[in-house]
Amino acid sequence: MIYIVPTPIGNLEDITLRALRLLKESDLILAEDTRVSRVLIQHHGITTPMQSFHMHNEHAKVGQIIDKLKEGQTLALISDAGTPGIADPGFLLVREALEQGIEVQCLPGPTALIPALVQSGIPSDRFVFEGFLPPKKGRQSRLFSLAEEERTLVFYESPHRIQKTLIQMVPLFGAHRKTAVVRELTKKFETTFRGTLEEAIPYFEAHSPKGEFVLVVEGKKK
Ligand code: SAM
Repeated sequence: MIYIVPTPIGNLEDITLRALRLLKESDLILAEDTRVSRVLIQHHGITTPMQSFHMHNEHAKVGQIIDKLKEGQTLALISDAGTPGIADPGFLLVREALEQGIEVQCLPGPTALIPALVQSGIPSDRFVFEGFLPPKKGRQSRLFSLAEEERTLVFYESPHRIQKTLIQMVPLFGAHRKTAVVRELTKKFETTFRGTLEEAIPYFEAHSPKGEFVLVVEGKKK
């Protein structure tokens, strides 16, 4: 059995009792960055051994992990923050485990997109999660393909690209589309900008973007 275990996106209290129990009871924790996860693991007094599993070694390691699972070991996969497989490694292992007849369970828990969407004030009944836009090649065409989308759009974005993204969206999506730019969820300097795309641009000229961001954009009006 492999458990996919969501971990906090900032506030160390945001972890479920079941997640803590499974991390304690597992034979091995696979962590995206063992140095990052050690803070959480030690904070909660967990002594389970950890091994790294990240985008640079997942292809090489997946076979060895499947062998451990076939031997009957219970493994837990965690990422640096939030839910593994959501803009983080995880999918490859889930797919391979299922193909090999191994049971996979993902626990419910922290992920940045859901609180950002819900507190945005933009309709949350139907939405599209786009993750990170391609940094260069394919970026403009991805935005173009989303311009007619009627469901709410949710993006992850880095602080040094947020302003560029807002500027690129205006001609394609329209200056008056509602947006919410949610920064540093669950952390000390959490803030949410709510307004239109054209209002967001001067706001981020005045408030230099720092930290982690989720960008929520209203879908096209029918
Ligand atoms: N697996 C994570 C999840 O479930 O949300 C996402 C990991 S991805 C590598 C990191 C991106 O998620 C950040 O660049 C940002 O867009 C978003 N993110 C993660 N934590 C956040 C936070 N506390 N506040 C705002 N955005 C966050």
